[in-house]
Amino acid sequence: MNPIFSTLYENLPTFLQEIAISFYGLIREHQRYGGNYHKYTNWLLETEKMSKSDLDTLQFNELKKFILHTYKNVPYYKKLFDDNNITPYNINSLEDLKKIPILSKEALRKDPESFQAKNFYTRDLLEFHTSGTTGKALSVKIGKDDFRKRMAFLERQRIWAGTTNGKKVATFTGKIISPKPGKNKFWRYNYFGRQLYFSSYHIKDENTIFYVRALEKFKPQIIEGYPSAIFLIAQWMFNNAYNHNIRPKAILTTGETLLEYQKEIIEKVFKTTTYNYYASSEGAPFITQCEFGCLHINPESGIFEIVDTNNNPVTAPGETGALIVTSFLTYATPLLRYRINDSVVLSNKKCTCGRNFPIVERIIGRVDDMLYTQERGYIGRLSPAIKAFPNSVKEVQFVQNSLEQIDLFIVPDEKKFNDNHLNLVIEEIKKRTGDKVKIIPHLVNQIKRGSNNKFRLTIRNFNPSSIT
Ligand SMILES: [Zn+2]
Repeated sequence: MNPIFSTLYENLPTFLQEIAISFYGLIREHQRYGGNYHKYTNWLLETEKMSKSDLDTLQFNELKKFILHTYKNVPYYKKLFDDNNITPYNINSLEDLKKIPILSKEALRKDPESFQAKNFYTRDLLEFHTSGTTGKALSVKIGKDDFRKRMAFLERQRIWAGTTNGKKVATFTGKIISPKPGKNKFWRYNYFGRQLYFSSYHIKDENTIFYVRALEKFKPQIIEGYPSAIFLIAQWMFNNAYNHNIRPKAILTTGETLLEYQKEIIEKVFKTTTYNYYASSEGAPFITQCEFGCLHINPESGIFEIVDTNNNPVTAPGETGALIVTSFLTYATPLLRYRINDSVVLSNKKCTCGRNFPIVERIIGRVDDMLYTQERGYIGRLSPAIKAFPNSVKEVQFVQNSLEQIDLFIVPDEKKFNDNHLNLVIEEIKKRTGDKVKIIPHLVNQIKRGSNNKFRLTIRNFNPSSIT
């Protein structure tokens, strides 16, 4: 939301806020599901049946079209191609894409204007703000048609999850809801979207019961949003053995890394499957989860390269690599070979669903946040270690400011927690980090959220390559 509107919104009485959200929702409905949206959805339901070679051809044709567009219409790429003696006609295979240098976030932030395509009218554009760790927001312009195409990819995700757009949905994101002091109403209803927006800023023990009652009353078919927020609700219900009848068809999580222990509790409590998908407003291509639990790269949305620290392709299954993305959904602000600073674990599995889409084993999330130790290098996966707490902590966060020490922040469940649990967990963590690094536990009341109220399991505040 625009900052001026959000200040206005915050000062409105609750019922006017709901009217404002509903009208905003109505505009959004059209932006999302107007124009070619249905055409794109139908197209995606056809392409998912394609053979591997047909998909390769489709992907390459999309790439050609996209690169030609960047050369003709985008000042940054015109110059980049000319400086490197490349023309779009030199790109004759997916392999040739590697002739184009990798684009860093810094380069995009430094001069976002030069990435804007010149062949768009303002009226055809939507503007979005993404936030980085530096706190500096990046504004990204998305063409309306591309936006609808992105919505079609999301719709395919819903269909894989056994549901569709238009069903009742409970949403937990970083949106500001502004509950009035003294009133325990931490949600607002978007009438046209049949959507209940929940504030993920106010989920604390004493408030959780109000969230749960609102969910019971609303009976959503889909619960979607940040896994950490949905988890806090589910965990409270689990720990209190709360008897309920909230039975969503599916839970769709995005925006943060979905951790194993979160998934387990969420699915137990709501008796349904969690579908985790990867997308970004900057315009990464999509990774979505099928009905058999596989995380599929959506090849029609763009190209993912997975590389090691030297930018060489990662090819061994089980290995972690950083994502370099080329998204066909970014015509207004095209990004070619963009280092989006997220990482995944590669897989060579074939999925029983029969779709010929590549699979990644896991989405790890932000590369910058992976802990690093001298003994083990980058630590890809810490969340299983937390399971050693016998359900006696609410949240955990790892913060590493140096090679020597990792600070472990713990929000304990006072009724269940005891100090012996700490030793168990530290032992588990050391199996992953090696013995030499010190693990310093801190018991706290809450874990501070990052930009957009996102939860991060791990934060690393130093650059390993500047030390070694
Ligand atoms: Zn599958």
